[in-house]
Amino acid sequence: MILSTETQIETIEHHFKAIMETLGLDLSDPSIATTPKRVAKMYVEELCSGLNPDNFPTPTFITEGFTPGEMIEIQNITVSSLCEHHFLPFFGTANISYIPTTKILGLSKFNRIVDYFCRRPQLQERLTKQIVETLSLLLETEDISVTIRARHLCVSLRGARDTASETITVVRRGVFEERRR
Ligand SMILES: [Zn+2]
Repeated sequence: MILSTETQIETIEHHFKAIMETLGLDLSDPSIATTPKRVAKMYVEELCSGLNPDNFPTPTFITEGFTPGEMIEIQNITVSSLCEHHFLPFFGTANISYIPTTKILGLSKFNRIVDYFCRRPQLQERLTKQIVETLSLLLETEDISVTIRARHLCVSLRGARDTASETITVVRRGVFEERRR
């Protein structure tokens, strides 16, 4: 069940206020009085908007101007998401390679589809797989590879406090998988 946007914002505002008060913060301070509302709107309207299927971008296909069988690569697509274990951001880039069959997608659609799956609590491994599976269906090709390289704030701000390491996830299908063997 998906609640209405208004109900989601009101409920999160209520609970986030309780979190801040539990931490001993004084919500009568004008500087933070409206923080619960701001945080609630940020989660519902921005960081978690990809939980609502209505927000999936409308794909526009192009059926000419390319050669079927010749690889297309899109590099350095912005990845900016939220780790589902800590609700802290992870961010980096995605590279997509695919071999078109009968159609290709407009270039900005790759950014929008990546962004749609980023806007929900995620695991980098699942995010990579969701992008591959969705693009494979839309493009009607088995030959697709997605690599995501990202830094996780749950690794740098807390826990190991490692600010240099990056996580790289790769999902290869079709010829990209075969070439690796
Ligand atoms: Zn985490």
